[in-house]
Formats: sequence, structure tokens, C-alpha cells
Amino acid sequence: MKKIERILVLCIVVAAFLCAGGCGKRNPAAPAAVIPIKAGARALSHLQEAYNSECNAAARSKLFAAKCTEEGNFRLALLFNSLSRAENVHASFLAALIRGAGAEPLAEINLPSWIGPREALLTAFRAESGNVLSVYVNFVRETTEEETSAAVPEAFSRALEAEKSHALLLGDYLQRSEQWKSSGGMIVVCTVCGFAAEKADPQITSCPVCHAEGAKLEIFQ
Ligand SMILES: [Zn+2]
Repeated sequence: MKKIERILVLCIVVAAFLCAGGCGKRNPAAPAAVIPIKAGARALSHLQEAYNSECNAAARSKLFAAKCTEEGNFRLALLFNSLSRAENVHASFLAALIRGAGAEPLAEINLPSWIGPREALLTAFRAESGNVLSVYVNFVRETTEEETSAAVPEAFSRALEAEKSHALLLGDYLQRSEQWKSSGGMIVVCTVCGFAAEKADPQITSCPVCHAEGAKLEIFQ
């Protein structure tokens, strides 16, 4: 390959990497409308921390989905792709609040090493349960006390409920290793609040967390 062609290929690879979710300080969430809000110092700090956490979760899930696909664990890839979408929903509404408070959302993406599907599920399960839930509970309490705009504690509360649904899904998949390679399954993600669940009977026709209607539910299959 000629030198100029090699440089061109390298540029395309770098551009593709950045678009697909590379590392570094950047804003992977889609731009959202700026609605001015009142947010004190603690609220803004908590919003930035949560935004960074959600961006990392989205990028981590995207990486896990790609690795699962490579290794033929298609059902697991479906799960991680749907969770990545859900975490991006959180990142987007947190970004909108940060911009509404007059700041710029920032995330430092640190991706974990790939070890295997069980370790990936455990990593994600630990990240979506336990400590993160108590962190969000504290964020809700502190931003309510700070008398920030109601939208801020509401956003944390919504993210908290959605994370519980992710933890349930991940815990369930940890128990069902015989299905990881199957090509079936259907997962529904609420594009308003990030709730995620397997779509089974009784069929989910609206979001149980934010009550968004069916048109706002995205199906992964
Ligand atoms: Zn919802």
C-alpha cells in the first residue's frame, strides 16, 4: 500500500473510532435543548458525576456488545446493546440539565479490559446495583435540600429506577448462561427514562417507570 493510502486508511480508522465511542474527554450524548434551570454547586457537581458515570456505562456496554458478537454470544450482545442505548438516554437528559445550568457536560471514558462474558456481566451488574443506587438516592436528597430546580432530583430519581431495571436484567442473564449464544430474545428500552426489560407476556405497552407511551419504547431483537 502506498504511503498516502496508508495515511488515508489511518484517518478513516481514527474517525470511525471517535464516532463509535473512543476514549477521552468528549460528549457522547446527543445535543439536547437548553432549558435554563436553577442548580446550586452540589447539584451541578452531582450532575457532572452522574453524566460521567452514564457515559462510561454506555461506552462499556457498547464494547461488551461488540466482544459478545465476536464470540457468538448474540443474546448477550443484544442485552449490552440495549443497555448502552438506555445509558445514553440517561446521559442525554443529564447533559441537557448541565447545559441548562450554564455548564458543559464532560466525560472521561475509561474502558475495562475484556476478559469474558461472565466477567462482563458481573462488571455491569456491580456497576448497576449496590453503590450506584445509594449514590443516586443521596443525589436526590441533596439536590432536593439545595432547592435546585425540581427537574434535577427528578432526573436522578428516574435514573435510579431505570438502573434497578438494568440490575434485574443483568442478574437474570447471569443465571441463564445456556441462553447467551441463542439468537432469540427481545428487550424493550424506554427512550425517555432508560428503563429496560425483556419484552414478554404480559407485553409492556407503556413504560412502568415514567409512563411513556409505546411509541417511546425502542425494541431490540
Ligand atoms: Zn420510561
